[in-house]
Amino acid sequence: MSEKVINVGFIGNPNCGKTTLFNAYTGANLKVANWPGVTVEKKEGRTVYKGQEFKLIDLPGIYSLTSYTMEEKVSRECIMSGEVDVIVDVVDASSLERNLYLTLQLIELGKPVVLALNMMDVVEERGMEIDLHRLPEMLGIPAIPVSARKRTGLEILLHAVAHHNEYAKQGPFIHHHSAETGHRHNHHREYAMVYDDQIEDKIDAIIEQFRKRYPDMDNMRWHAIKILEQDETVMKQYPVDLDGIAERSYEKDIINEKYDFIEEVIDETLVNKSEKAERTERIDRYMTGKWLGLPIFLVIMALVFFLTFTVGDWLKGYFETGLDLFTGAVSAGLESVGTIPVLNSLIVDGIISGVGGILTFLPNIFILFLALAFLEDSGYMSRVAFVMDDIMSRLGLSGRAFLPMLLGFGCSVPAVMASRALEHRKDRLKTILVTPFMSCSARLPIYVLFSSMFFGDYAMIACYSMYILGIAVAILTAYILSRIDGSKAEHALLIELPEYKAPNARTIAVYVWEKVKDYLTKAGTVIFLASIIMWILLNLGPAGFVTDIADSFGAMIGKILVPFFKPLGLGYWQIAVALIAGIAAKEVVVSSCSVLFGIQNITTGHGMESFVAVLGTMGFGAANAYALMVFCLLYVPCTATIATIHREVGSAKTTCGIIFFQLAVAWVVSFIAYHIAGLIL
Ligand code: GDP
Ligand code: MG
Repeated sequence: MSEKVINVGFIGNPNCGKTTLFNAYTGANLKVANWPGVTVEKKEGRTVYKGQEFKLIDLPGIYSLTSYTMEEKVSRECIMSGEVDVIVDVVDASSLERNLYLTLQLIELGKPVVLALNMMDVVEERGMEIDLHRLPEMLGIPAIPVSARKRTGLEILLHAVAHHNEYAKQGPFIHHHSAETGHRHNHHREYAMVYDDQIEDKIDAIIEQFRKRYPDMDNMRWHAIKILEQDETVMKQYPVDLDGIAERSYEKDIINEKYDFIEEVIDETLVNKSEKAERTERIDRYMTGKWLGLPIFLVIMALVFFLTFTVGDWLKGYFETGLDLFTGAVSAGLESVGTIPVLNSLIVDGIISGVGGILTFLPNIFILFLALAFLEDSGYMSRVAFVMDDIMSRLGLSGRAFLPMLLGFGCSVPAVMASRALEHRKDRLKTILVTPFMSCSARLPIYVLFSSMFFGDYAMIACYSMYILGIAVAILTAYILSRIDGSKAEHALLIELPEYKAPNARTIAVYVWEKVKDYLTKAGTVIFLASIIMWILLNLGPAGFVTDIADSFGAMIGKILVPFFKPLGLGYWQIAVALIAGIAAKEVVVSSCSVLFGIQNITTGHGMESFVAVLGTMGFGAANAYALMVFCLLYVPCTATIATIHREVGSAKTTCGIIFFQLAVAWVVSFIAYHIAGLIL
């Protein structure tokens, strides 16, 4: 028993179950997602096994140890520093082949590595078999079968970590082609991965120089390989004279040889290949195919909105009835106790109408997130990123940017944060700039309300078009910006597609519950406050309480802005006020209309009828409604998103620039939409 804490770093591809494993040991409840880029920061926790304390570090998922991306940098720095004693390489044992690439790189680092063969439950369920004797023989590191979800093998893994920490030296290799090859280099007893003679010669030559110039360097072989790959960090840190050794980068050759070796390992250790892997390949021929990929995505998104509308609206009906009953009861109750009318109005027209109106959309929000959770957990969302990567790279854009953008369908806050996955600041800025154009769930109530009021049978199409428009504007904007700053596309998206799987009920439940909770919290905080402030602004004027809302402070502010909105068909002070209020949270655009237009429970059937009638007398028709939806889609994001943008870009000036830019885009696109819609409708 040792008293020293053993530091263990969990490394592996995205989605291999690192976070699940980490949670299983530490009892933490970090977000688990079938989605790359979820863990961008590292998380730490502790566990004890047989008196030995372990510090566990959950690192971002990575595919390789280059330093192209933020995740790779974070992970690489962490393991290279003294922070980690033992690396636990978590692999998805059900798709060993694509996981082993990172494993080979980790082994080359020369630190103790323990292979955690995760998802063994899946392996067994599929009838695959892995030769657990041959695998460690070929790799030279212990391989422990575990299942993070079923919590099997957890103790043995810690046991292996503790043991391996003490006996860090790798065992002798019983190598695949030790005797028969004609290789001059015979390191097969020392290293798992041996390259061909040409590369091994170069490695030796570089190590020769290292010995003279940096005699204290540890792990010279790894550094030499990195030099051959022309890794920027290592080249800068340990410059060497490559004359006559390497006139170009050998990165490709090194990658290819690693994959050749992986093929040999798989041939010898994987006894039964899974049918599922083959099925995934077959499905993907269509799902990610050149011609069908995009149409399939569009159809699936359309299906999502069909469900959001039909099922969501059916449930929403019950919520509306409930809201009406509740309003009536509270009104009657307040009157019977004899409260002053002003208080009555604040509670019924201000708070209940505002917050309650937003709550009636809960079914739609619920269905939307349920659908998104299914798409994420089944593995489809990664395909969308893959399909879009192809399209974006043809436009000279980085496909990596589409991952954060897809998250934007849910909420812009995590989406903006996910832009950290991009390597260059310029790309990050561009992504942050366009991500809020993706239609987040908070805009849904606006679309549902206005499209059901003005588009009848075509409501669903009007709503769907917002999502498509959002994507189109985002891509177009990014494209134009890239043309202006002349930047070139980043290297191809290195995204490995996870196998399709039946979504896990628990994962989906957690995901949807989180979102519903967020929505309820928002209704109870931001929207609640905004409703009160709106009520006050619209009931108070320079002369105290006003009888005509048009004399209120709110109206005064709105009227100043009318000229700005006029060209968009939105030249009404009420709309202007609603849009300003919507910066608090986009749903407030809807909730504030109640007070603004003096209609109780505006989101219910009868509320909408009176709302349409009032708008009609003002000359506000379908084209105006469409322009309003477009403006809401594109204009200044909500305060939470603005705060996130500010945190990510770290400059108030840049943040303001981004906001003004988005406002300008919203204005121009709404202007165009209004005039085109005017011609059609
Ligand atoms: P990370 O990206 O490596 O942190 O992976 P996560 O921990 O977020 O897990 C990704 C997905 O794999 C989630 O849907 C998990 O529920 C699932 N998962 C993780 N470990 C196992 C396992 O041992 N067996 C099975 N069947 N699924 C697992
Ligand atoms: Mg994770």
